[in-house]
Amino acid sequence: MKSLLLFLSTVCTASLASVASAEVVVRCQQSHESSFFQFDSIPLPAIDDAAAGGNWQIVRGKPDNNSAPLSVLYDGKIPSNEDSPRENFFFAPGTAGGCIAVDLGRSIDIAQVATYSWHPANRAPQVYTLYGADDSDPKFSWNQIAENRRPDQEGWKSIAHVDSRTDELPGGQHAALTSDPTGAIGKYRYLLFEIDQTANDDPFANTFFSEIDIVARQDAGPKRIEAPELRSLRFSTADESYHFTVDLTAAPELEPWSQSVLQPTVQLWYPKIVAMLPSEDFVAPKTVRFRFLPGEKMEGVPAYARGATISLNASWFNREKKREAAGAVVHEMVHVVQAYQSGRGRGQNRQSPPGWIVEGIPDYIRWFLYEPQSQGATLSRNALAKAKHDASYRVSANFIDWVLRTHDDDGKLLQQLNADARHGRYSSDTWKRLTGKTELELADLWRNQ
Ligand SMILES: [Zn+2]
Repeated sequence: MKSLLLFLSTVCTASLASVASAEVVVRCQQSHESSFFQFDSIPLPAIDDAAAGGNWQIVRGKPDNNSAPLSVLYDGKIPSNEDSPRENFFFAPGTAGGCIAVDLGRSIDIAQVATYSWHPANRAPQVYTLYGADDSDPKFSWNQIAENRRPDQEGWKSIAHVDSRTDELPGGQHAALTSDPTGAIGKYRYLLFEIDQTANDDPFANTFFSEIDIVARQDAGPKRIEAPELRSLRFSTADESYHFTVDLTAAPELEPWSQSVLQPTVQLWYPKIVAMLPSEDFVAPKTVRFRFLPGEKMEGVPAYARGATISLNASWFNREKKREAAGAVVHEMVHVVQAYQSGRGRGQNRQSPPGWIVEGIPDYIRWFLYEPQSQGATLSRNALAKAKHDASYRVSANFIDWVLRTHDDDGKLLQQLNADARHGRYSSDTWKRLTGKTELELADLWRNQ
């Protein structure tokens, strides 16, 4: 978890001496660790706060076709997982955000405004400016802003700027709390959120807003959603270089297996995989999160990796814990280290590597280095004669193993192959450059070995 504090003053520079100037504080937190919202020092969303009774409208911008209506912002519920468009409000892809506003019905002393979001990538962080207005000006129009005008030119007063981005990967749960420790952030009837996209080079960078709370000063304290009992396991490598968490909330029965098998496998193999796959300026994630999810949330797959989070199908792991489970974890850790998505959208000529490279390298490391004794990717002579080197997974792993055994003079072929894929420059020519033979020549030799 990471916290960052931003201090913003609402006082105009000319009126520093004026009385009762509010000191507005914005606190942002990011959490990756849980299948439920969990923040160091920002409370869970409120259910019966002032936002729930307000009239909400989109003042500028186009919501995404898959977005939920604005009512998800004040329903006191959080999304069931990190990529749930129907439980979040968000603006359309490729657009520069927009504005939403609320009429609270009357001026209230606002103690705090909290916003919550959750997504695996650039739709997780929050970047917005919060404005307020009271109802003293009869000409003020809260639910429209003329084209090309800024809110502050239309009678809105800027309260705070929120930017929850950090130098970590953007994904996870983000919460931002705007408050004034000395009292209220101000007395307002209307609030407006001018929302920006979180990255300019990614069309999918409009935040998935899950919940917005507006807490009045006189509130005794709103009712808040309650977290389920969370179970997790934390450990690090012996040298403290890498840190791991395993969220066991959905599968407490897998705690003994996680301690006796998963933990030692991860402690030994994650640093090994990192050392196997270096490239220029690349730093592998220092913190990796595992989480068990119920089988029905996994869309039929045993495991998948996104960024530095590895999701594990609890039903499958219960079934396979004495057989395939540990090997599947090794495979997914290779995806975390590959980080082929980390440069998405950056660089005009960036090529995505083909699926058989993406999956062949993890299966090579799994079947030929981690568990060679299982012979899991061995091909019979007959199967080999008909095999396609780009058939992905075990077959491609078998091909990669053969090339490494026969054409890797300096022992750097695997790392160079991975580096090309990671940095968006992999092509069929990579094979010719690294071995002197074309991809198809190698495939023929492999089939006829
Ligand atoms: Zn995979």
